Amino acid sequence: MGAMGLIVQKYGGTSVGSIEKIKRVAERVIKLCEKGNRLVVVLSAMAGQTDALIQLSKELTETPDPRELDVLMATGEQVSVSLFAIAIKSMGYDCCSILGFQAGIHTDQIYGKARIKNIDTDRVLAELDENRIVAVAGFQGVDENSNITTLGRGGSDTTAVALAAALKADICEIYTDVEGVFSADPNICTHARKLDRISHEEMLELASLGAKVLDIRSVEFAKKFNVPVHVRSSFTRNEGTMVVGEEKEMEKVLVSGVVYDKSEARVTITKVPDRPGIAFKIFDPVFKAGIVVDMIIQNTSVEGITDLTFTVPKTDFQQTSKLLREVAQEIGAEEVLGDQDIAKVSIVGVGMRNHAGVASLMFETLSKENINISMISTSEIKISCVIEEKYTELAVRALHEAFGLADEKQRDE
Ligand code: ADP
Ligand code: ASP
Ligand code: MG
Repeated sequence: MGAMGLIVQKYGGTSVGSIEKIKRVAERVIKLCEKGNRLVVVLSAMAGQTDALIQLSKELTETPDPRELDVLMATGEQVSVSLFAIAIKSMGYDCCSILGFQAGIHTDQIYGKARIKNIDTDRVLAELDENRIVAVAGFQGVDENSNITTLGRGGSDTTAVALAAALKADICEIYTDVEGVFSADPNICTHARKLDRISHEEMLELASLGAKVLDIRSVEFAKKFNVPVHVRSSFTRNEGTMVVGEEKEMEKVLVSGVVYDKSEARVTITKVPDRPGIAFKIFDPVFKAGIVVDMIIQNTSVEGITDLTFTVPKTDFQQTSKLLREVAQEIGAEEVLGDQDIAKVSIVGVGMRNHAGVASLMFETLSKENINISMISTSEIKISCVIEEKYTELAVRALHEAFGLADEKQRDE
């Protein structure tokens, strides 16, 4: 970044995973300040800390109280922002670490997946006016009754982009452990190609289908408020991926990425009497419990009975099965079956809109690898298949190859 500006940066868990790494981030931030930029730095908890905190609470109970769990989880980010500010100050620069509530991040009251309603930027602006680097704890906010809330796993991305929007920052840089957004997870697909640019629309699909490189809500903010977002590595100086509005030339790309998601489970309710109101009876208790249902398949009925299959997050699997067993009895269905060892593999691309044949190549590729498809769903710019979890990596690599997404340079190496 050459010109002076207001920069919001976010460093993920791995980027601040040790004291040594925190020091390196501090040095990087100071360099930008020396060039005359103003810096707001959003940090995640040190790698593994959020999981460790959740695990501690699970030693007390399988179902920790959501309010208290948020108070607990929010401490991870408090540790990293304070250490970062201590590092900056020890290097002779001024810095102030603040938590979500001090940064004016107001959310609704849904613990564990709160949504940002508005951001009061007064405090952050005041600190910037004092020429301080402002370190903001990611992933957390405060509801209207002053309760601490968290934004859902991966939510520090959202803190950063939402802050960048509220502050009208010149850029929001998301620093992570890979060099940008790739045509597939570079950690399992060595030939994955770094995308120089990706449209909001495609990034939304990738994020919603499981590519955790950006939290989906951060992309929603970026799109809505037109925040320039640059995803890049905290370990190199290389340019990463710009997340931008859709451009004409992008339409040439048929498929831009392969993505997988191992976080869902499948439930089936068998021999459901096929009559009006049944879908409502089945899904109403599930929706009322706040469970997000993803893919749904209902077969054509034979002699008035049918099977209904859908997917839910693994974390909601037990509760969903319990709710469905109650409904099954009530409506006279046969039984409730479940499978947690599944994965969803998807291909995404804005160019798919006008091309037939993409789905058939996907099915052919999976069949050549002897991978059985148990559910399919399609939209204008994506096709998803549910397969057995153990074939995830194989499927991602095969599809990546079949759609010609490999980085030629890397392939030659
Ligand atoms: P952070 O802690 O920095 O927020 P995350 O672990 O949340 O990092 O997200 C980065 C990870 O996302 C990468 O390490 C990579 O394994 C994964 N990932 C999945 N799909 C993609 C993709 N298409 N491009 C880049 N990274 C991806
Ligand atoms: N620390 C939180 C998590 O692990 C938020 C984040 O990293 O973005 O989910
Ligand atoms: Mg993340």
